[in-house]
Amino acid sequence: MKNRIINLYSDTQTKPTAGMRKAISEADVGDEQLGEDPSVNELCRRVADMLGYEAALFAPSGTMCNQLAILTHCRPGDEIICDATSHVVNTEGAGAAALAGVSTRTIASESGIFSAADVEAATRSLNRTGPRSKLVVVEQTVNFLGGRVWPLKTIKSVVSGASARGLKSHLDGARLMNAVVASGVSAKAFCADAGFDSAWIALSKGLGCPVGGVLCGSKGFIEEAWRWKYRMGGAMRQAGILAAAGLYALDHHISRLAEDHRRAKELAVGLSEAFPGSIDPAGVETNILIIDTSPLGIRGPDFSHACARRGLKFSVIGETQVRAVTHLDIDDDDIRDAIAILKEISASGKIGSAPRSSGAGHLYG
Ligand SMILES: *Cc1c(COP(=O)(O)O)cnc(C)c1O
Repeated sequence: MKNRIINLYSDTQTKPTAGMRKAISEADVGDEQLGEDPSVNELCRRVADMLGYEAALFAPSGTMCNQLAILTHCRPGDEIICDATSHVVNTEGAGAAALAGVSTRTIASESGIFSAADVEAATRSLNRTGPRSKLVVVEQTVNFLGGRVWPLKTIKSVVSGASARGLKSHLDGARLMNAVVASGVSAKAFCADAGFDSAWIALSKGLGCPVGGVLCGSKGFIEEAWRWKYRMGGAMRQAGILAAAGLYALDHHISRLAEDHRRAKELAVGLSEAFPGSIDPAGVETNILIIDTSPLGIRGPDFSHACARRGLKFSVIGETQVRAVTHLDIDDDDIRDAIAILKEISASGKIGSAPRSSGAGHLYG
């Protein structure tokens, strides 16, 4: 076994490939905030077309895409409806409250996938005393509940139900392309055709770019979102250097996501053999695995620490939950070796305790 770190911490851990670095070095660039960067313009046009929208903007991060959408759709005192585990609620520094002055009403679901009836129950009747329900946020795929794919039918009923009640809808598509590859449903069908007022994809997750997200919507929406992007310091200059990586990823890193999904499934099978009850491989649809350490009688941080000591890096996302994410820099040998390490730990029966400081509490993209 090679002496190395098998890094399943997140799909944000990828390094740009040689081909991507070449595309970056050859990028055509200009002043992004004047609309004069040809690479950024091409990236925005291509992603807008792919998701089915009139317009798009390039943002330095996915968090900024979500916050721009919330700022644009909502006014202070409005409320957004989303899953309790969603990134907008847990991992954006309370940006909805701190920046947009918006409260959140969360839905507790098992897999991050809620129904039109859940949205209806969470929508408040309009009166002078309560917050104004304004925006529904759907996360495709569901990050902290195991990369589940929202079925198209459920998305359509949630979005049309929201719209019938006068609510806007926004898709956090950090891993939309994983959902597209896993389901065979097109990005356009999941986004504009389903009726979302805005949607974005991450470049720096499964697509393997160093930085960025592309937010899409109508011309009017993007015009207003651009104002917020500028105010937040998100306007850039020769950002084509970054957009070139995105263009390269659209051409080379989408269909290969199927390999990440296959490897995630293989890892889940290995895990369920090494630690029965820790995961149901049938529930692994894309590139994210949530390992439940409670049936093993082990704390998540201790499990993760035992693996890390042997070169296998996961992230701890709860007291008894550990996350593994496959990505571009994980190959078949890594999965084979990861499973061997897990079986070795299981056979040794030695888990030990993690240092206090490595407890749960940090959720990362
Ligand atoms: C990573 C992630 C984001 C934020 O993207 P960054 O580029 O890390 O800011 C938003 N939503 C989900 C579901 C994510 O996984």
